Amino acid sequence: MRGREHRPAILLPVLVCLALGVVCAYSSSIVCVLIPDGGQFAPRTSTRHDLAVGRTAYVSTVHRSGYTLMTVTGPMPTHVADQLDKIRSQEIPIVPGDPRPYWLRWAEKNDPQTTRGVAAGWPFLCVWGRTDNNVNHEPQARHTGLSYVTISQTTQAKRAFPWIPLWLGLAGNVVFYGSVLLMLWYTLVWLHRRSRRWRGRCPNCAYPMQDDIEKCPECGMPLQPAAMGSSNLASSSSTSSLQTTSTLTSKSSINEAK
Ligand SMILES: [Zn+2]
Repeated sequence: MRGREHRPAILLPVLVCLALGVVCAYSSSIVCVLIPDGGQFAPRTSTRHDLAVGRTAYVSTVHRSGYTLMTVTGPMPTHVADQLDKIRSQEIPIVPGDPRPYWLRWAEKNDPQTTRGVAAGWPFLCVWGRTDNNVNHEPQARHTGLSYVTISQTTQAKRAFPWIPLWLGLAGNVVFYGSVLLMLWYTLVWLHRRSRRWRGRCPNCAYPMQDDIEKCPECGMPLQPAAMGSSNLASSSSTSSLQTTSTLTSKSSINEAK
């Protein structure tokens, strides 16, 4: 049986929690895309960026916690951009610098094109995907790391789910969710051991204890008197000794089976 050692196992829970952390990180990105409105129709900011001399791009951004949608039109020759501004008959603020993350920068062509990039994940953005549209390409739309899924058969509503890792954000999310799960796990272990002690049993192997003994006769774990009880679990479990655990373990499992 497990849990017979004096010291709670560390490596296995950590590995399991990290693996579950990856699952949680990806799940968080799915939830962030699925949240009603998905950010896709939320108010967006439109800006114009002079990426280089004579090259201009329009960037439209929807950004909220756990979700970023960025649509980049261009880069295109500046005179085309100026004409577009006139057609749109609105002032689009010119902002210096290039706001695109690295995963929205490649595949630039000289002709106008639109790139639609999505990043999702909470608390950190951890996955990305993009769709490149270009009338001069065949096919016109190229999806990279972006899966479009119909989420409502009646309205034919679709959502774009990104899945290529943003490694830094993914690592952050895995550590975040893994730590939460690990804390939860050790809280449960601690409560379990404490309840055994309150019931007058060895916190390690649940063998019934007398008040005056110093060591569990089954697993050899040093014990405080029951009266001092639950307050001292940490110190008693940390002063574990490497005794003949294997034989004692088999004995105690027999004992528990009775
Ligand atoms: Zn014991």
